[in-house]
Amino acid sequence: MQSTPGISVSAVHKFFDGRTGRVEALTDVSFDAPPGSFTAIVGPSGCGKSTLLRMLAGLDTPTTGSVKVAGEDPDVVRRRHGVGIAFQDPALLPWRSVAANVALPLAAAGRSDPELVAELVRLVGLGDFADARPAHLSGGMRQRASIARALVSEPDILLLDEPFGALDDMTRQNLNGLLQEIWTRRATTTLLITHSIEEAVFLADRVLLMSARPGRIRADFQINLPRPRLPEIKRTPDFHRLCDEISDALFSSDDPLVPAAP
Ligand code: ADP
Ligand code: MG
Repeated sequence: MQSTPGISVSAVHKFFDGRTGRVEALTDVSFDAPPGSFTAIVGPSGCGKSTLLRMLAGLDTPTTGSVKVAGEDPDVVRRRHGVGIAFQDPALLPWRSVAANVALPLAAAGRSDPELVAELVRLVGLGDFADARPAHLSGGMRQRASIARALVSEPDILLLDEPFGALDDMTRQNLNGLLQEIWTRRATTTLLITHSIEEAVFLADRVLLMSARPGRIRADFQINLPRPRLPEIKRTPDFHRLCDEISDALFSSDDPLVPAAP
């Protein structure tokens, strides 16, 4: 018997109706990801990556086609607090401490679990800052708090939309290591949108490459690198070969990366 996929996206088309007419954001997007898998999506700006993520979060719906999380409607999963999300902007509440921010999704679900909150705050390396306000943290520390917050409800699905995009390279690499560690412990079905091919290859089991608008999946790469992946793996020929293959596909000229001029 086949088990229910962690993520199932089937023949999704998405149109937006705006003042300037109809925009086709996604065209015929389909993929399944097994429970506990880590999928990365790379693709040019405006190709519909965030739109796809919003659908998986139950914040938007496809025009046609279907999206399921753990076999359920994403909206249902979201309502039972089964979705963890982190965006590029950590969006912490400035008047609440780190611990209180991390605890927010639990509070929204009418739950309280100070031990779990403290464990996650420690896990992301903010143990000494549990009572600090976001204004007293660096950008990387705020992003770590937002990842802890995304994990606190022990979600069925973790959705990360360029969470490290605004950070310097060193902080980004540290957070990549941390994310891998957390993911290895909990094996939550994860979808990461990133501009960094290196980050995608380092973290994911599979990298999906999307084409320019209207977005569709143009290539699908299995990343069979052993785990746990230490930073040194980035110096191996296998790692470089995968990055080169994806980068060649991303920049190949037979499928333009920028949408045709209107
Ligand atoms: P990406 O995250 O890959 O940069 P988005 O998913 O944000 O792309 O956007 C895909 C396309 O859909 C873009 O052309 C964008 O302008 C359009 N779009 C996204 N959201 C809306 C919306 N709410 N209304 C109208 N157009 C939208
Ligand atoms: Mg986006």
